[in-house]
Amino acid sequence: MSTPTESTRPDPRRNLLLGLLPDDEFDRLLPELETVELDVREQLYERGKGIEHLYFPVDSVLSLLATVEGEAAVEVATVGHEGMAGLPAFLGSTESVHDSFCQIAGTAVRLTTGELRRFLSQDGALHDLLHRYTQATMVQLSQNVACNRLHTTEERAARWLLQTRDRVGADEFTLTQEFLAQMLGVRRGTVSLTAGVLQQAGVIRYTRGRISVLDADALHSAACDCYDVVQAEYQRLTVAPEV
Ligand SMILES: [Zn+2]
Repeated sequence: MSTPTESTRPDPRRNLLLGLLPDDEFDRLLPELETVELDVREQLYERGKGIEHLYFPVDSVLSLLATVEGEAAVEVATVGHEGMAGLPAFLGSTESVHDSFCQIAGTAVRLTTGELRRFLSQDGALHDLLHRYTQATMVQLSQNVACNRLHTTEERAARWLLQTRDRVGADEFTLTQEFLAQMLGVRRGTVSLTAGVLQQAGVIRYTRGRISVLDADALHSAACDCYDVVQAEYQRLTVAPEV
């Protein structure tokens, strides 16, 4: 983890949650936000350990993993610029229930849990926003359960690649086979086969862990409906609730 120089620092308000805060509230929060550069595989949370910071990805993507004793870890959710990692701290828990790693290197801004609590004790939009984000996250988690049970590896791979493309905001990104296997809950050999099918169809190019999305529409067609369901839920965050 490192601190980027002023000139290379991307706008923290590319993060949807920070972008949705009213200007005056964001200005009050800004001095408490620390910009950090995250490396691939950098661990942010460890199961059973305290949550010291909440992370708002700007162009990085974080992965939450569930571990079953003696088995490989399986990804249960990803967090990109649409959200925040460390939700249990908002909900009153002090410990992480997941391991969390940086899956795609990039920038995030972070806030200590102490500052979050202090900030939430004041009247502001963040509290309501995080409540709505919690709801969207629950939809993502429950949709993932159904998706893992009902949809093919190819459909799920297309869905995850599309989602990752949205979060990175680029058609090209680095994604190791190990992470893709964790994302899909399959073996690495299955990942190679699945990526091969999409590659042969001219939808993606996958070389040495670097993914290029060549045809986003075709990738969307190859993905299961879960992509649109989760996407719509995060889109809903941008619409202020009726009072
Ligand atoms: Zn699905």
